[in-house]
Amino acid sequence: MLIDTHCHLTYDELAPQIDAVWERAAAAGVMRCITVGTDIADIQRGIALSATRPGIFHAAGIHPHAAGRANEEELRALEQLHADPAGSGLSPERLVAVGETGLDFHYDFAPRDVQEVVFRRQLVLAIRVRRPVVIHARESEERVCDVLAEYPVLRDRVVFHCFSGGPELARRALDMGFWLSFTGVVTFKNADAIRAAALLCPPDRMMVETDAPYLAPEPVRKIRPNEPAFVAHTARFLAALRKEDYAAFARATTANAERFFGLPATEE
Ligand SMILES: [Zn+2]
Repeated sequence: MLIDTHCHLTYDELAPQIDAVWERAAAAGVMRCITVGTDIADIQRGIALSATRPGIFHAAGIHPHAAGRANEEELRALEQLHADPAGSGLSPERLVAVGETGLDFHYDFAPRDVQEVVFRRQLVLAIRVRRPVVIHARESEERVCDVLAEYPVLRDRVVFHCFSGGPELARRALDMGFWLSFTGVVTFKNADAIRAAALLCPPDRMMVETDAPYLAPEPVRKIRPNEPAFVAHTARFLAALRKEDYAAFARATTANAERFFGLPATEE
């Protein structure tokens, strides 16, 4: 059994065919997904989508791309959701993380100082509501680590989603007590540095995800959109890369996700 620890089931590529997507995930052994809401409207779509599907969990945050349009009202709505998920129609055990949040210096859709204000606000929120943090960092990883270093209480409670750095960055993040989550990007031809990072990641610090609808892994890279079922390809690839038994690797990364996000234990 696998968990897709990061996907966007609400996006237009997936939401209209959610029943089929969910069935294919189950057939691939992916019984649980964490769908990541990236602004308030998206979070609300996610809550509606998950009502009849107990295997869907939620991370809720303001994506750095959306930081520029996140006004005070939106930030307060996010804080309110995390303070009282039931008030928004979400059972508290299904809201498992703050995020994705962080900094994106590749697209720079919002000014960097604004991104950082919104990022810090969500770190404070995560500390207050005692939920882990899902980090989005693109060409900003060093700054993200510098900011996170100011919140040492978050040690062990931060995951770098879609980890795309090399071994040096992996070392720094791991030394700070963070977790690494790998997408299909690790299967891409030009991803030697990411593979080196995946090789040095301790088995109890690693998770797998799709980031669907984006980033389909090899050998299904040409299939659009990516979907949770395909996390199995990334898990197989990583197990082979690390010369680990696939079943054991799947068990370990699933247990890691349950521990990190505090998911209820599954009965096998
Ligand atoms: Zn994402």
